[in-house]
Amino acid sequence: MLFAAGTHRFLAHEPSMKVVALTFDDGPHPIYTPKVLEILRRYKVKATFFLIGERVERFPQIARMIVSEGHEVGNHTYSHPNNLPKENWDEIRLEIEKCSKAIERVTGVRPKFFRPPKGFLNYKVLTLAQLEGYTLVFWTVSADHKDAPNPKAMAKRVLKLVHPGAIILMHDGRIPSRWKDVKALPLIIKGLRKQGYKFVTVSELFKRSDIVLGRKRSS
Ligand SMILES: [Zn+2]
Repeated sequence: MLFAAGTHRFLAHEPSMKVVALTFDDGPHPIYTPKVLEILRRYKVKATFFLIGERVERFPQIARMIVSEGHEVGNHTYSHPNNLPKENWDEIRLEIEKCSKAIERVTGVRPKFFRPPKGFLNYKVLTLAQLEGYTLVFWTVSADHKDAPNPKAMAKRVLKLVHPGAIILMHDGRIPSRWKDVKALPLIIKGLRKQGYKFVTVSELFKRSDIVLGRKRSS
């Protein structure tokens, strides 16, 4: 099933849906991920982490910590290729499969969401992800931007662009330093709460999106 980022903008018409999903890409990281987890714990927020398979193997305890603290994990490929669509079919399949296997082996959870690195998508990536039964997840608000050079600016950007049903993209791993994300996170959580937002995982967000997709339950 494909969820284009734009789909969730329709939630803006539903005022009761003041929910957002915080997502963190490129972990686990031995320094930044525990910091992010500590903040999420402090503010009682559940988030979704799109993990890189080979980092899960390198930092298994951190990956397990994410899951044991009640957060959701998704597949972000095994080695985070710079341009996944340029790889051949076998390579793309391997990147996706190896990542899920690593996550499942280490955490016991089989991810059902897939986010391609940098959001780069073509027919090969789309076909393989769908054939393997993943739901593609992008984002509607990127915290990272050249106009957000420091934590304050990053938070300001998110608080300005947020909308009901937003999927917010942040990072807890890879280069460059992720201190900006770590320091912006409490500002973002506090600011969004002030605006009346609640935090949900991507699964929870999609459950609420049934109404958007014309699958509203009768109950
Ligand atoms: Zn990434």
